[in-house]
Amino acid sequence: MSIEQVDTSRHNIIELRNIEQSYDGGKSYIIKGLDLLIEDKPEQGQFAVIMGMSGSGKSTVLRYIAGLQKPTNGEVLINGKPVDAENRVSMVFQQYSSLPWMTVLDNVALGLRFKGVSQVERNEKAMELIEMVGLEGHEYKYAQYPSLSGGQLQRVAIARSLLANPNILLMDEPFGALDIRTRLQMQELLCDIWRKFHSTIIFVTHDVREAVFLGDDLYILKSAPSYFAEHIHIDLPLNRQRSIKRDPRYESLVREVEDSMLRVADLK
Ligand code: ADP
Ligand code: MG
Repeated sequence: MSIEQVDTSRHNIIELRNIEQSYDGGKSYIIKGLDLLIEDKPEQGQFAVIMGMSGSGKSTVLRYIAGLQKPTNGEVLINGKPVDAENRVSMVFQQYSSLPWMTVLDNVALGLRFKGVSQVERNEKAMELIEMVGLEGHEYKYAQYPSLSGGQLQRVAIARSLLANPNILLMDEPFGALDIRTRLQMQELLCDIWRKFHSTIIFVTHDVREAVFLGDDLYILKSAPSYFAEHIHIDLPLNRQRSIKRDPRYESLVREVEDSMLRVADLK
């Protein structure tokens, strides 16, 4: 569907239109002709995965959507409106997502701090999310290593983002630094969250197997200049269990995505 045909009054549509990015006053562009349309499916949300070589602009795209950076040219719209301070979205990074001098509870409640919600209500809501991400009993610990493990720190960041805005979750290689067992647990937690909130999740990863397991739609960035060159729909059941990774359809999608990434890397 082209951008013009989409009814942008519906909820959770993220659009990047004709984005260009220059850091040298227009002498060169590292992003050119970049378009992206991520539309929620009713009662389901959307789990979009962004992939591409290092330096292809994955983090930049998330920063645009989070409202942390404006492109040189082009439009970034959420539900048809330009991103601004009002509809800013928070982000979960690979590391350093939490404030180490604050407790888990205060870190999570921070998501509501600037929204005029009373402290009692902030803490109540934060506790619900702390339980949901499996951190009950840790709420008064400082959000720092080694009081909390890497996986627990990412749970804090996810809970804070969900409280700030459960509609959209932006995640920049969030599980890259975790050991394999924790990583698999976090993948399953994220699937649960998606099912529960029907959020729009935009997830950056280098790991093709993770992308195919989690994603509903994959978007692959070409670099220099960057734009989205390929889109692959992951036609697997929505309620995925880890056993899907033994399914021949999963394996064939993993190969398809690998081929696509190599093709895009070779584009001039
Ligand atoms: P990725 O996350 O895919 O690795 P990034 O979005 O971090 O890529 O960066 C995309 C490109 O933009 C990179 O080539 C990077 O060097 C360049 N870039 C990012 N920020 C700046 C900046 N402030 N000045 C100049 N170049 C930048
Ligand atoms: Mg990056």
